[in-house]
Amino acid sequence: MSGGTQKGGMREGVQVVKLGEGAQRYELDEEALRRVLLRQDVRGLPVVVVSVAGAYRGGKSFILDFFLRYLKASRYSQQTGAWLGSEDEPLQGFHWRGGSERNTTGIHLWSEPIITTLEATGEKVAVLLMDTQGTFDSETTIGQNSTIFALSTLISSVQIYNLTGNIKEDDLQHLQLFTEYGRLACDSKSKAFQTLLFLVRDWPHAFEHAYGFLGGSTLLNKRLQAKVNQNPELRQVREHIRTCFDNIKCFLMPHPGHSVEDLKFTGCLRVTDLREQFRLALLELVPSLFDPKHLTPKLISGERVTTQDLFDYFKTYVGIFNSDEVPEAVTIFKATADACLLAATREARELYSLQMEARVRDNVSVSNATLTAWHEAARDQALRRFVGKKKLASQADVDTHLEALKKELGARLSQYLWNNDIKVRDTMTFATEAYEAAVSS
Ligand code: GDP
Ligand code: MG
Repeated sequence: MSGGTQKGGMREGVQVVKLGEGAQRYELDEEALRRVLLRQDVRGLPVVVVSVAGAYRGGKSFILDFFLRYLKASRYSQQTGAWLGSEDEPLQGFHWRGGSERNTTGIHLWSEPIITTLEATGEKVAVLLMDTQGTFDSETTIGQNSTIFALSTLISSVQIYNLTGNIKEDDLQHLQLFTEYGRLACDSKSKAFQTLLFLVRDWPHAFEHAYGFLGGSTLLNKRLQAKVNQNPELRQVREHIRTCFDNIKCFLMPHPGHSVEDLKFTGCLRVTDLREQFRLALLELVPSLFDPKHLTPKLISGERVTTQDLFDYFKTYVGIFNSDEVPEAVTIFKATADACLLAATREARELYSLQMEARVRDNVSVSNATLTAWHEAARDQALRRFVGKKKLASQADVDTHLEALKKELGARLSQYLWNNDIKVRDTMTFATEAYEAAVSS
């Protein structure tokens, strides 16, 4: 099933990462990613990336479509619960039940980022919904396909680990790689990752742990307790997991009802289709993730990640997951640190350009002294922005990038002076002192 049309194409789940063959194990569809992340309307916005990860036919797309409903509803509907929809409205969005993408390992993004405002600060953010599908085999500590899970955890701000029936030992094993990475990447102030949510579907023991977050938290505490005679790797995962994520939660979801097995089931809400308990669980779960009070922007090293940064992180991470069977935690750390530096450099460069473009006119020349003064003011602001950003890299790497940035901005001045000269020779008029004074202030 898919949603309606929009300007620039269908709204649908688009596959941005797929499992390839041979050395290129993961293929990034850069064009598709560009169409989602580099749209004009979300340019420069911080991102909230909510991923639902798990094995196929686990109900991931189904729940994602309720996320979409909530995100698209008016604030009033969100507050009253009307967002859940009407009794006879088929569930649309990401394809669920059947469809061509159903058995493909990879990452899908909803084609349209949803722009929302954070209630606390009034800032705009772009919410991205991500569907991460792997086989999640338990043959090895991190099975080949389930590195996709590590990849999507690195990229998301909320990782929803979609499990059926319970949290099992194998499920925890998949967390090993990034608990190691997470220890490297966190400092005293910020943790490596934001939210991990274990979403247990078809929870069968409601009499023992109740549905929802409450029962989830007691189950999780039990599962995360270290046990004697435990595999040492798993014990470490348990010990480290809380140091990696700001927030670890578990939600126990009831079975939706047996009509889900019916071929004619379209995801309508009527009681004969979806059990009342399932609807109540949705009303508890979905606002806890997407209410403007609870949105979780993606942070790397404590800094907000923008749409453009996320595009670069995608490329970086897919690259390192291709260069090794399973990359070492230190490799991921180094790649993240490098990408962080690039993001800081880009932000500084953009700030410089913005400042200069606000003053320099195409057809007006100014004195070289004025131009140089404008440059110096813009450069200093840009360098301050670069220095002020928190980075994971070593001081030596930071210094190298800072030097390169200084050189680059110096070269920009030469270019501006050159263009200014041409304007003089082309007998353009010199700006009046009044103009220079006005834009300099
Ligand atoms: P995905 O492959 O993980 O994206 O799974 P889908 O969302 O496509 O759902 C697969 C099937 O499971 C569909 O027939 C759904 O109707 C059904 N389904 C959705 N949610 C649940 C659930 O919570 N429990 C059960 N048992 N089935 C579900
Ligand atoms: Mg699916």
